Amino acid sequence: MDLVFATHNTNKLKEVGLLLPKNIRLISLEDLGCSEEIPETATTLEANAQLKADYITKHYGISCFADDTGLIIDALNGAPGVFSARYAGEEKDSEKNIEKVLFDLMNITSRTARFKTVIALNINSKRILFDGVVEGKITTEKRGAAGFGYDPIFVPTTYDQTFAELPLQIKNEISHRGKALQKLIKYLSKI
Ligand code: IMP
Repeated sequence: MDLVFATHNTNKLKEVGLLLPKNIRLISLEDLGCSEEIPETATTLEANAQLKADYITKHYGISCFADDTGLIIDALNGAPGVFSARYAGEEKDSEKNIEKVLFDLMNITSRTARFKTVIALNINSKRILFDGVVEGKITTEKRGAAGFGYDPIFVPTTYDQTFAELPLQIKNEISHRGKALQKLIKYLSKI
């Protein structure tokens, strides 16, 4: 089965590529020849994921899925949440986003947080949503060079390393995206 993953993020493509079973051929936007930035203008993760998947279905008429992820920090009343990509500004700069989170949490000891991913799948004229959450906490400084986005400041519960220090295989087993993807794979195995 051919399935488009509607993302321009090569890190996400790598993560998802490692998890999908062999009978699913992952098609990237680059493979499709789609270089446009897909709009993410909604105010919930669910609606944003759906917007991205619908964009590809509308323009290319092919089965596809899209994800949207938010980092939810309790001490910041759930921020940056659905605005995680643009937390420090429209340029969507991960370094600046991290700096802003660390600044906002300065002198705050309660640093619990979670990543949540929603995946929207468009297949056989159906639209289905899957989600995944990983609990953890925000560090006081960046640690590690792997991963992307907020990975260097997020330590998942029961681990001491950040997502940027842990091997990708472990991140994939326990992460928000990994969990949502397992649900997607289970669904696809039954149709
Ligand atoms: P989006 O799902 O690509 O819109 O991501 C929203 C924001 O969360 C962006 O700043 C991403 O870099 C960040 N993000 C998404 N997934 C992850 C992840 O697995 N680890 C760390 N940051 C992530």
